[in-house]
Amino acid sequence: DTTEVITRNILEAWGHTLAEDITAPHPVPPFDNSAMDGYAVRAADVAGATPGGPARLRVLEDLPAGYVSGREVGPGEAVRIMTGAPLPPGADAVVPVENTQAEGWEVLVLEPVSSGENVRRAGEDVREGETVLRRGTRIGPAEMGMLASLGRAEVPCHRKAIVGIISTGDELLEPGEELRPGKIRDSNSFSLFGLVLEADAVPLRLGPVRDDPDLLERVILENVEKVDAFVTSGGVSVGDYDVVKEVLQRVGEMEFWKVAMRPGKPQAFGMVGGRPLFGLPGNPVSVMVSFEMFVRPALLKMMGRREIFRPTVTAVLDTPVGRKKGRTELIRVIAEWREGRYHARVTGPQGSGILKSMVLGNALAVLPEEVG
Ligand code: AMP
Ligand code: MG
Repeated sequence: DTTEVITRNILEAWGHTLAEDITAPHPVPPFDNSAMDGYAVRAADVAGATPGGPARLRVLEDLPAGYVSGREVGPGEAVRIMTGAPLPPGADAVVPVENTQAEGWEVLVLEPVSSGENVRRAGEDVREGETVLRRGTRIGPAEMGMLASLGRAEVPCHRKAIVGIISTGDELLEPGEELRPGKIRDSNSFSLFGLVLEADAVPLRLGPVRDDPDLLERVILENVEKVDAFVTSGGVSVGDYDVVKEVLQRVGEMEFWKVAMRPGKPQAFGMVGGRPLFGLPGNPVSVMVSFEMFVRPALLKMMGRREIFRPTVTAVLDTPVGRKKGRTELIRVIAEWREGRYHARVTGPQGSGILKSMVLGNALAVLPEEVG
């Protein structure tokens, strides 16, 4: 299911998914206006103008942006006009100020303009009735500006999904804690926090939780009403201490998978109290890559987004990679455009614990299952 549709002010709509098509109630710009500072003229009046033989026009008034001219421009007349001011009736073009010479309430026009030149037409950006923004679109800066220019202060959008993040493991310490023998710091819940934010959802950090099934069960059940989905890390492989497996079988309907991908072979997925739970593996790279492959698209879909997958391109692999067939491999690469095509170079060691590969990489290279 998608999250419910809520109404948000434009300023609070950033990162949300538009829930309805947005149709323009009026043209943008709403009226013909000047694209330059200069003089609104009748093009016919200045047709033969040259620096040596300028056209002399009578200036009726000064027209700044934000005001409407009270005068009609007749033959031999002009209005001094600023960028954005509505074109006065009678005028059909604007002579840029640099092609003129002012002489009191007269102006010498040194160059001709053609009819319509330097005029921005009503509706040239958006026609009245045009569907400018489609439902399922992410509301970013340009969409915010467009909504404002259409007068839509409030927009219908999908609520951001709240994602409960739980890392599991007796070995886990907080970043501020002193390292002790046998312990490591919990990095996964922080990577996941950032990944959830980048998926335009709301992270709720609920861990780390020790490898204690009762404790984990309690954390899940206490938060099930507060979240739209859970993401856990660790405890889904075949080890004796893989508590996530045990608990999930108790509190939800779970399925455990061995996915033919690397990193990220062990995966769990199921429903707990009507919420999807993604049981991701514990290794720091596996958890991030699994999030990319499974959780991000699911969250975006849940929030009504139409585009749920990352863009993909074909690249030349510049680093030799030895591998066995049979699993899709997602290696961390630095991709760049060079000499007319994308190139990808491996970041270095690719172990599932080498988090630096994620720091250095800017893309995942997808090596298909059947390629050796
Ligand atoms: P697991 O799947 O629980 O057996 O974990 C696999 C590996 O990932 C082990 O080496 C763990 O120590 C490591 N690991 C698990 N959770 C985290 C975490 N939150 N942060 C960093 N490493 C972790
Ligand atoms: Mg563990």
